[in-house]
Order: sequence, then C-alpha cells, then structure tokens
Amino acid sequence: MSLSHAVVLGASVAGLLSAAALSKNFATVTIVERDQLPDAAVTRRGVPQGNQVHQLMPAGLTRIDELLPGFSAALLEQGCERYEIDRDVAVLYPRGWAARVAGGMEVIGFLRPTFEWVLRRRVLALPNVRTVHGIATGLLAGTDGTTITGAKVTGVDGGKLDADLVVDATGRGSKAPNWLSELGYTPPAEQLVRPYLGYTTMVVRFPEGALPEGFRGIAATPNPAHLKGGAILPCGNGQHVVAAMGMSKNYPPAGYPELLDYLDEAPSPLLGRAVRAAELIVEPDTYRMPGNQRRLWEQLDRRPEGFVVIGDAVAAFNPIYGQGMTIAAIGASVLAQVVASADGSVTGIAEKFAAELAPWTDYAFAMAANTDSFFPGAEFVNYTPPDPEAVAGEAFAVAAATTDPAVAQAMRRAAYYMDPSGMQSPVVQQAIAEWASTGRQPDPSLTDPNQPPAAIHDVG
Ligand SMILES: Cc1cc2nc3c(=O)[nH]c(=O)nc-3n(C[C@H](O)[C@H](O)[C@H](O)COP(=O)(O)OP(=O)(O)OC[C@H]3O[C@@H](n4cnc5c(N)ncnc54)[C@H](O)[C@@H]3O)c2cc1C
Repeated sequence: MSLSHAVVLGASVAGLLSAAALSKNFATVTIVERDQLPDAAVTRRGVPQGNQVHQLMPAGLTRIDELLPGFSAALLEQGCERYEIDRDVAVLYPRGWAARVAGGMEVIGFLRPTFEWVLRRRVLALPNVRTVHGIATGLLAGTDGTTITGAKVTGVDGGKLDADLVVDATGRGSKAPNWLSELGYTPPAEQLVRPYLGYTTMVVRFPEGALPEGFRGIAATPNPAHLKGGAILPCGNGQHVVAAMGMSKNYPPAGYPELLDYLDEAPSPLLGRAVRAAELIVEPDTYRMPGNQRRLWEQLDRRPEGFVVIGDAVAAFNPIYGQGMTIAAIGASVLAQVVASADGSVTGIAEKFAAELAPWTDYAFAMAANTDSFFPGAEFVNYTPPDPEAVAGEAFAVAAATTDPAVAQAMRRAAYYMDPSGMQSPVVQQAIAEWASTGRQPDPSLTDPNQPPAAIHDVG
C-alpha cells in the first residue's frame, strides 16, 4: 500500500462514508470536524438539518451496506424500522394515489441523529480511521501549485495536516471554490434553482388505528398546485416522524397547534387528521432553505491533483426528493472504485472521480431542479428550466402510476434507485402512450385524498 494519508474535511454522512471508502486503500485516514463529535444519537450544530425528516433511498442503503457490511443490521439493532415504500406508504401524486406495489423496495426508517451515530461508530471503529477536532480553512499545495499536499486546519498542532489526498465533505457551505481561487485556479461554475422551501419536523406516537388501515406512512408532498404538504414516516421504536413541507415561501409554522392547521392544507387531509390523534414525542423544529445548489466540479479546465469534493459540497438538493445522503453514498462508492483502480498513486484520481460522479449528480439534480422549476416564483441562476411542453408526457406517467403497477414501480425505481431503465421498458412505454392517446384519467376512487387504495399488486 503506497497511498499513505488521506484527510477528509467534515464528519457528516459524506465525510464518514468517504473515510470508509478510503480506509481500504490508504494507510491512515484523518477526518477533520469542527464539532466535538458526541458519542450519542443527538443533533449537533454543524448539521442543523439533523432534526428534520431524513429518508434514505434503497440505492443509498445498498451502497452503505457494501462499504460497511452489517450497517443495516446495526440500524435495526437501534430499533429502526424496515418497511417497503411501495407497499407501506400511501403516496399521493398530483394525479391520485400511487398504485400500491409489493416487490421488495425496502428502506429503513430512522431519526437522522441515530443514523449518523450508527454510521459514525462503524467508521470510527475502523482501525486506520481517526478524527481530529478542528476547522479547515484552506488547502496546501506543492511549490508548483499542481498538487494538493494537505489542508490548513485551525486547532491542530502546526495548523495543518499533510496528506496525499484531501476530500472536501464540508457540506453546502463548502469554501472549496475560494480555496482553489487562493491557489490560482478558476473555481467551478455554480447552478442554483431556488423554489424557497421550509420544513417543520416533529416525532410522534400514533395510537392504534390513527393511520389508514394497513399503512405505516403517508406522503402527500407539495406540488405546484398545492404548495403545502407533508409526510408521515416510520422512524423506529414505534414512533413516526411527521414533516410539514412548504414550497414557494409557504413556510410551515414552528408551533404545535398551528402546525396541525398547516397539515390540514396538505393535498391529503389524512395527514392533519392522523397527527391530531398522536402523542407528541419530540417538539417541532423548523428549517428553511432556498433550494438546489450545484457546483460543476467536473467541468474545471484545470484542477490540482490530490483534491476531491463530495456530498452536499458538490450538490445540495431540495430535500423533499430525499436524494442527498444517497448521492453521498454513491459518491463514496465511486471514490472507493476510483482509488482502488489508481494503482497506488493519486495522480488522476481528482479528474476521474469528478467525471464518474457527474452522471449521478446530473440525474439527481435534474430530477429535483426540473420539478422545482414549476413552483411559482422559482429563481434560476445558470440553469435553464425545462420547457413545459417537453415534459407534458410526464403527467401521463404520473396518471398511469395510479393504476398500472408496472408504471408505479418503474417510476419509483427511477426515483429511489436512480435507475430510469424501467421507464423505457416496452410495457411501461406502451401503458403511458395509451393513457396519453386516450386522455385517460385516473379512476375517481384513486384520486379521493381521503382514501388511499387498499389493494396491493404483487409484481414479484
Ligand atoms: C431539511 C433537510 C432535510 C433533508 N432530508 C433528507 C432526506 O430525507 N434524505 C436524504 O438523503 N437527504 C436529506 N437531506 C440532505 C442531507 O442532510 C445531506 O445530503 C447529508 O447530510 C450529506 O451531507 P454532507 O455530509 O455532504 O454535508 P453536511 O451534512 O452538511 O455536513 C458537513 C459537515 O462538515 C462539517 N464542517 C463544515 N465546515 C467545516 C470546516 N470548515 N471544518 C471542519 N468541519 C466542517 C460540519 O460540521 C458537518 O459535520 C436533507 C437536508 C435538509 C436540509
């Protein structure tokens, strides 16, 4: 092993997973974190979104289990709850309830601090990974400036850490563009799509019968015709996380009774009705953000060797689509592969990693940004919103997904596995074409926001 030392900046999801990925090929990995890391499942200052609902897609969980075998089991040991999204959660799309499908699209429900704590314990138990408490303030380069040789870190001896590879996982507020400018490089272009959204999340316990029969959650998130929405999802230990979500500056309130009124205005009144029956376990907490931010690291004309950027520092998405942690996990998995194929040298890792991560980021960013572009008042920087006519066909896919289990499953596979191939299958394409050519509308029994469908389709 000739790769000696990697330094990872930031000990949240992207940083921890990067450290796990690098531990396979570097002798030592040091994670730099500005927070004192608690040995408990609690929120912390550096992750202000920690109290908000977090759902991890199957595509992310699979990658994490590959990097850290037994991770799912460790979550379940903490009382986190396994469920099938397609079968157990009533999902209300703008055109009606999604057809209910059993077919193994399994996820694990958790509270974000529990998830991060389980992850942190697993990663810090790796024999060659350590953390230091400090604040990263810049990059160090060799005399000709072509290679990063470490990071400037306030709070450690000498104010710096030498490294063969530096990974920036400091989140959406990353200063890496400035750090590169200081070294004479042109920073990456930035794209912004801002629908201005807010969350308020709380944890509750439901009495028997409060949720629609046979369901363990409800998702009726905002859409351009309905700017207030929400979701109820299992988070383990017999509890549920309830999130009110508002778009176009329709921010949900922080107070408990007002929040119930807000949830009543979601696309399905079932949310407010269920929560009224619940016992409040964790008080509501709010979070506001402008929207999606992407830095085009893969398009740099010139970049130094020995430096990569991952996680929210590359792209931070509107969280309603639940993509951030999954893209962080995919990024870590790509990093592991790129480093493993690097033959003991960091030369080329930076360029290759940025190029191989880009298609995944493109996919997730387009999904979030294009959907968000139809919300009133959305703002764009360096991004062209899609032509409404060009995406009109998607409305028929959403309509077909209320009735056709193959379409419903393909749509959710495209979202949760980031695998759109099912949408191209002849069966799915034909079904959507039929809905489009006949102008078919979902059966009224599937559009009643008071009544999600009971029937479960088994597509194997
Ligand atoms: C309201 C909300 C809800 C969300 N819901 C979901 C969801 O349902 N599903 C999902 O997949 N994702 C969700 N996300 C996104 C998810 O939180 C992030 O994608 C995920 O945490 C990965 O981010 P990260 O590790 O790149 O950065 P962050 O989580 O932002 O962590 C950055 C870390 O770097 C540290 N740091 C920052 N600067 C420095 C510095 N200079 N020196 C040292 N340390 C530093 C911070 O303290 C922190 O620990 C949500 C986000 C928000 C805002």
